[in-house]
Formats: sequence, C-alpha cells, structure tokens
Amino acid sequence: MKKLSKGIWCCFAWLCTAVTLAEPSPTAQLLLDIQQLSSEQMQGRETGTAGAAKARTYLKERFRQLELTPWQGSYQSHFVYYKGRRQQSGINLIGWLPGCDEASGSIVITAHYDHLGMRGNRVYYGANDNASGVAVLLAIAGKLQLQAKPCLSHHYFFVATDAEENGLHGSRAFVENPPVPLEQMLLNINLDMLARAEPQQQLFITGARRYPELRRHLQQQPGELRLTFLTHRGPQRRGSLLQEFDWPNSSDHAHFHRAGIPYLFFGGMPFADYHTAQDHWQSIKPEMLEQVFTVIWQTILWVEASSALQLRPTD
Ligand SMILES: [Zn+2]
Repeated sequence: MKKLSKGIWCCFAWLCTAVTLAEPSPTAQLLLDIQQLSSEQMQGRETGTAGAAKARTYLKERFRQLELTPWQGSYQSHFVYYKGRRQQSGINLIGWLPGCDEASGSIVITAHYDHLGMRGNRVYYGANDNASGVAVLLAIAGKLQLQAKPCLSHHYFFVATDAEENGLHGSRAFVENPPVPLEQMLLNINLDMLARAEPQQQLFITGARRYPELRRHLQQQPGELRLTFLTHRGPQRRGSLLQEFDWPNSSDHAHFHRAGIPYLFFGGMPFADYHTAQDHWQSIKPEMLEQVFTVIWQTILWVEASSALQLRPTD
C-alpha cells in the first residue's frame, strides 16, 4: 500500500471519528457523505449508469434520515433530454422542507450529484466535483430542521440535480417543470466544487451584487477564508481567467438566472485535479470544508432573516 501522506492521515482520522461517534460532528458527516458519494462503487456517478443509481439510493436514504418531504410522494423526478438526436433520461432528487403557513416563497438549493463516470477502467470519483456540494446541501437541510423554531421564514426545496456535466439538463428540467410557479421562487442557492481551491483558502461567490447587506454580513464573519465576490463578468482584472469565465452560466444556477430568479453561486474555484481521476476524497481539506460550510450557513441565516421582497424585489 502506497505510504499515505500526512494530509490523507488527517482526512482518514476525521472519517474514523465519524464512523465511531454516534452523532458524527457536522464536518465529519460532510466528509462521510463525500467519501460515500465518491467511493469506488459509485463508479463516478455518470448519468444513466448503475453508479448513478447507487448514488441515488444513498441520497434518498439521507433525505429520509433528514426527514425531507418527498415532493408529490417521491424524491425522484424523471426527465428526458437530447444528446444530439438521441433521447436520454435523467433523475433529479427533490426533498421539501415546508416553512411557516404564511411563508410566501421558496428557496431552491441545488447541487449536482452526477459526474463523469469511468474512462476505460479508471473511475472519475468527483469528490470535489460535486460530492462536496451535495454534502453541504444535506448539511444545510439537517441544520435548518433544527433551526425551524417555531417554523422557517420560507419554504425550501433541496434538489440534487442530474445530468449537469453534459449540459445542465437537470436544472433545465426543474425550471421548465417547476414544483411551484417560478414567481414564487425567491432565490436559487447553487453549490458546486466547494472543498478545494488553488490558491487555497478562498471561496468564490457569484450573484451577490444584488445583496450588499449579505456581502457585509459575510465579510464580518471571522475566519481565514478569503471571499472572492464575482460580478457578472468576474473582477475587472484584464486578461484573468476570472474575467473571461462566464460565471452566470457556469453551473446549475444558469437556468434560474435565465428565468429571472435571483441566484447565489458558491464554488467553482479552479483546482489541479478538475475533471481527472485524481479528484478523490483523500485530497479534500476538512478545515477548508468546515470554513466554507460556515459561510454558506451564515448566508442561510441571512436568508431566513430576510423577507420575500428583500430576496426578490418585485420588478
Ligand atoms: Zn460540477
């Protein structure tokens, strides 16, 4: 067995703790979900494969544990899309957390669970892309359940999307066939590639230009994480990757954005193992994951304290 580096040992230690403790700590549970979703048996979770079906079985069990309500009696929402002329099918997973009776709108939290699958006999594990985003989505659901005293200000949809890697098809299907009218969707919070960044310790946040109070709130939070707020075309630095990259259309938030629904996109920081077989759970930094989760949780608290009109001013 290859000698495990220090980093891998500490990751492993976290997991051992997770396995032994009755109630794993939030970070240990995050790592456990990432480790499970990016394990060999999930075979890189390519849409339409046995590996993706195993990932759904795992996620549905987690949704049940978190007592999310299956939308219309099932967590699974089937859809079809076209790859060239060939019709393909995908399955989104949708869990619902109702707010107070008087809540007028819904927050939609998205993270894609699909990845690239296998290339020959090599598994593209997709730990950071995007088991990390799905793990944070589950952690938010768990913490919000505890937060609901007496009830939540808004309704929440938790959507693990499929077929993101080959064209954002799952989020398109959700927006084209929404569970509630699009006018009632106050905000989409999209999570994609959260646990690794080069250079390290930074988190990209796109779509926050419309929420200056949120920016202030997050910038006041303690922690070493450097928050990089990206505007529509990235920070105005000539010729930088950040400038050229089309952030509003870079992941599942794109279809909400095109439908006029405000969005916040967390993630997308470049990392060397992007879309390679090296994107495995052993390279996830627990400390970074913990800090990123704290920032996203602070955002959820800010959303809970904001009215529907503050989140989605009427045009
Ligand atoms: Zn991704």
